[in-house]
Amino acid sequence: MSGIVVLGSANMDLVVYVAHAPKHGETVTGREFRTIPGGKGANQAVAAARAGGEVAMIGAVGADEYGELLRHTLEASGVDTDLLRTDEGASGTAHIVVDDQGRNAIVVIPGANGTVSGLGPGDETVIAAADALLLQLELPLSAVLEGAEAARRHSVRTVLTPAPAQPLPPELLAAVDLLVPNEHEAATLTGIAAPRGAAEALLRQVPEVVITMGAAGSLYAARDAAPVTVTAPRVSAVDTTGAGDTYVGALTVALCEGRPMPEAMRWASAAAALCVRRPGASTSMPYRTEIEVR
Ligand code: ATP
Repeated sequence: MSGIVVLGSANMDLVVYVAHAPKHGETVTGREFRTIPGGKGANQAVAAARAGGEVAMIGAVGADEYGELLRHTLEASGVDTDLLRTDEGASGTAHIVVDDQGRNAIVVIPGANGTVSGLGPGDETVIAAADALLLQLELPLSAVLEGAEAARRHSVRTVLTPAPAQPLPPELLAAVDLLVPNEHEAATLTGIAAPRGAAEALLRQVPEVVITMGAAGSLYAARDAAPVTVTAPRVSAVDTTGAGDTYVGALTVALCEGRPMPEAMRWASAAAALCVRRPGASTSMPYRTEIEVR
């Protein structure tokens, strides 16, 4: 089993489905309301655990029903939540309006995630013993930076998903081994729309990059190797939410098992393709046995 630590967010997604999103001052009647456990940190933790990793999550939930549900969701997929703190305030929530065209409008309230300003007691010891640390940008940057620097001190592979896209401090990039943006994040970070060009620019700051490109697959670039493109399996996509997190979770498990990058990318693509064929985010993430049979 690969030891993977995720330092990241846990949010409850509160999703309403409507024909069209209300304009200012307008009231509309929606069709359905769903409460879906999410947050990029929790999603990547579930994805990696289901893909066969031994996963621990560092972060915070609130002392409310959502917090209990988020913790339970992680544990049900086998994620160790001993270092997931319970803050006395509210859990993080994402308030999402999805219209009939599949467009969404989202308000995120960080809640407990916003209280994670750095590592807590015991966090560095767990990171030090891991094979990889998974980071995203939904916690305060100070915590992400502390996590990355702790991983570097202990030579633990650091994988960063730069989402939501924002300018990144050089000291964070200096501590990252593998950056995994989607093509939009790669373009935002570099100002270059073409994934190959964006990857080349990112290699000035990090040694390895994987850019995910939706149905078009994924692109790997490293300072000392030729770029590799892996196509995504052709599937009929039902809901792509969580595809990126599934990809990163599975990719990290495969890399920690010592598989070469192209093989790890094919395996992650198979996992993500299974995710997009089913509705939901963490609920649609595949277990290792499903990925193996592909
Ligand atoms: P999301 O925000 O929806 O979780 P993302 O924007 O972070 O996803 P994408 O690049 O859209 O990430 O998708 C990640 C990976 O998932 C892709 O590299 C690909 O392997 C797989 N994938 C996504 N969409 C599809 C699709 N329609 N068919 C097959 N595979 C897909």
